[in-house]
Amino acid sequence: MTSITATSASASGSGGSDTRPVISVVAPVYNEAELLAAFCAEMRRVLEEIGEPWEIILVNDGSRDGSLAIMREQHALDPRIKTVSFSRNFGGQMAITAGLDRASGDAVVVIDADLQDPPEVVKALLARWREGYQVIYAQRASRAGETWFKRFTASIYYRLIRNIASVDIPLDTGEFRLLDRKAADALRSVREQHRYLRGLSSWIGFRTIAVPYQRAARTAGETKYTLSKMLRLAVDGITNFSYLPLRLATYFGFAVAGLSLVGVLVAILFRLVMGHELTGQATTLVSVLFLGGIQLICLGILGEYLGRIYDEVKRRPLYIVDEALGFQGEVARNAGGGRG
Ligand code: UDP
Ligand code: MG
Repeated sequence: MTSITATSASASGSGGSDTRPVISVVAPVYNEAELLAAFCAEMRRVLEEIGEPWEIILVNDGSRDGSLAIMREQHALDPRIKTVSFSRNFGGQMAITAGLDRASGDAVVVIDADLQDPPEVVKALLARWREGYQVIYAQRASRAGETWFKRFTASIYYRLIRNIASVDIPLDTGEFRLLDRKAADALRSVREQHRYLRGLSSWIGFRTIAVPYQRAARTAGETKYTLSKMLRLAVDGITNFSYLPLRLATYFGFAVAGLSLVGVLVAILFRLVMGHELTGQATTLVSVLFLGGIQLICLGILGEYLGRIYDEVKRRPLYIVDEALGFQGEVARNAGGGRG
């Protein structure tokens, strides 16, 4: 088990960022001005109760409201609250990556900054970590305040991906989880462009366990995951961990070839038994359109994978940092998020 380094000076109360933190909390922030101060207060309260040296890393994912100003305030208030700010919106997965890249604790907690993941649950995650587990994910026992549409699509999606993906992605989990140092380093070492951290954190392996929790409703603001963002993440999840869509072309091919063989037999039988040929443009048109449709779908699926390969070979940095506060050795401006 990862040893909990009992550093000579307990950081609680001292407010110094010189003590190496035991617990790092990483929270992505995108237009969360309404809730951010409350989140920081609640998170700090919980961390103080736990009593280990800690740090909170807030990653501003190109917010367009007052989130960044609040983050700076929070850093000024307590330097253990550190901030990273992107040059634009790179998406929640990248925000979490930037936080993981900078987290130095023995245990790294990834948590949403909208208080939907209750900070109190971190205590339960830590208890499991002390038992020796290395990846502890919080599993939603209930999803208060989510639309039936989101619950319905999420339940279908998780079940689908569980069946077709090459990794075992646990049901009903978000990004809320605790990673020990080794697991966090392992996750950091994966630098792929289309990140699906839920899948990756199960792909890396390690001793894993779930802790159930009641997911709260959002008390302010609205979900930042629009339908299109959710769809993109969903497709990333599937393409990252499954070749099944690519194989669909083969399956379609066999199915259509089989069907047309039957068609040929039927045509021959008609000729021999009934004495006349099958005529009409409709049959021809339908079969041509059907095949054309299937071919286009397969091309589209190929395109999804090809586009992802293209993104990988470009080797762009995963995110661009505009400003970072509270990190030693990182200049406040223009510290790039390399591929590591
Ligand atoms: N988020 C982000 N970038 C985005 C979208 C969301 O950093 O482009 C953050 C957001 O601020 C929140 C977390 O990711 O802390 C989860 O987002 P949200 O609460 O909107 O998703 P939901 O809980 O509805 O799935
Ligand atoms: Mg949320």
